[in-house]
Amino acid sequence: MTKAVLFDIDGTLIRTGGAGVKAFERTSATVFGIPNGTNHLRFAGGTDTGLLQDYFRHHKIQHSLENTARFLEAYVHFLDHLLATTSGAMCPGVTNWLGGLERIQNPPLIGLLTGNIRLGAEIKLRHFGLWDAFKVGAFGCEHSDRNKLAEIALRRCGMMLGTPLDGDEILVIGDTPLDIECARSIGARCLAVATGSHSLEELERHQPNWAVPTLDSISPEMIRTATSPHKRIPRVRTMPGKKGSR
Ligand SMILES: [Mg+2]
Repeated sequence: MTKAVLFDIDGTLIRTGGAGVKAFERTSATVFGIPNGTNHLRFAGGTDTGLLQDYFRHHKIQHSLENTARFLEAYVHFLDHLLATTSGAMCPGVTNWLGGLERIQNPPLIGLLTGNIRLGAEIKLRHFGLWDAFKVGAFGCEHSDRNKLAEIALRRCGMMLGTPLDGDEILVIGDTPLDIECARSIGARCLAVATGSHSLEELERHQPNWAVPTLDSISPEMIRTATSPHKRIPRVRTMPGKKGSR
């Protein structure tokens, strides 16, 4: 039985119209004097702190606590402003899914498993009126490795529910192969959605338990049906996915 459902943010719950990427770029140009300094970064599925490590290494900037704080403080400032001016949107089916999960008998804990730093996650989700839907989370400020964030989330869900959870009692929902990998790393099941940066075909190659074009393609009720992380479950496939960015 699924006791917790953990959502990725970018490309899974929302698409910011590139506000996150632009906020990174703006910070690089403004605070560190390096225009276009983030072009080499691969944002999809990454963690903010992992991206920052790559950024500092690439530009030979000292990876100090002070530089990290300077970067992230400016980043959230720009993110807040850019969200108001870029054309983002909630991903299809999100509202129905969150409502559907709450209506299930003995509803699962609803949480976040995201590479965003906590404040960045809050700024993005508040912008779309979604922040309060999530009762628990593991965030990119807690570790640069997404698989480690999954371990943190697993422990944290157990603490919230007052009993340790097995991995297969968790469902991870995400839009990249890295989300699928982090679910697998803790023995969780994974629902991959092609509403972000990867096509349905790309996601299917990584063999999530389910792969769907959008959350509209599958019901939250399906989480009742699966009890084993090893059981092969037919994937749903009805239409091509959409491209998106952080
Ligand atoms: Mg994502």
